[in-house]
Amino acid sequence: MPGDFEDMQFVVLSGPSGSGKTTIVERLLAESPVKLVKSVSATTRPARKNEVEGVNYYFLTPDEFAARRTRGEFLESAEVHGTGNWYGTLQSEIARAQREGGWALLEIDVQGGRQIIERFPQALSIFLQTSSETEYERRLRGRGTEAEEIIQRRLANARNELSQARKYRFQVVNDDLDQAVREIVHIISNWEAQRHA
Ligand code: 5GP
Repeated sequence: MPGDFEDMQFVVLSGPSGSGKTTIVERLLAESPVKLVKSVSATTRPARKNEVEGVNYYFLTPDEFAARRTRGEFLESAEVHGTGNWYGTLQSEIARAQREGGWALLEIDVQGGRQIIERFPQALSIFLQTSSETEYERRLRGRGTEAEEIIQRRLANARNELSQARKYRFQVVNDDLDQAVREIVHIISNWEAQRHA
């Protein structure tokens, strides 16, 4: 592994739409035994209402994204959901987390997760899932923000993502939010303890 990343710590969290990732991330930022700093991804998709540059995402034009990708600034990058929109984790986000005295928390899709697992086999990777497909669909529809076509695409994507779960070091089922958070907190504590063992 490249020396630069020797001491840089990060946690990769992936899971299908509707697996409760966003809520879990919020809880982990507040409750993790090791300080976690949410990595702000770069994306080419337009900002949604209420999204803030540098907080929710770094919103880049496709040209800017491609140029930074060519310069090797991304730890991983992928075109997500077949929308033509690119998403990626800038290496500078890992460094920022380290400067802030924490580990970067990367909430990314499975394509990005796979790139990181291949590049850093020793990384802490966690795959979140719910126990049934019906449950994903219920949660996805429950948001009431997406058009049917997008829901169908996300469901297909979810099936594909689930088949990737095995590649992650840990799989956590989120049927009960508190239980899932406890489990991840436990995984992070053990991980931290092993580093110092
Ligand atoms: P949204 O457009 O709804 O904010 O995010 C769509 C998807 O992009 C989510 O599944 C999320 O996991 C994924 N995503 C967000 N940031 C990144 C990133 O930096 N890299 C990758 N590979 N996927 C990301």
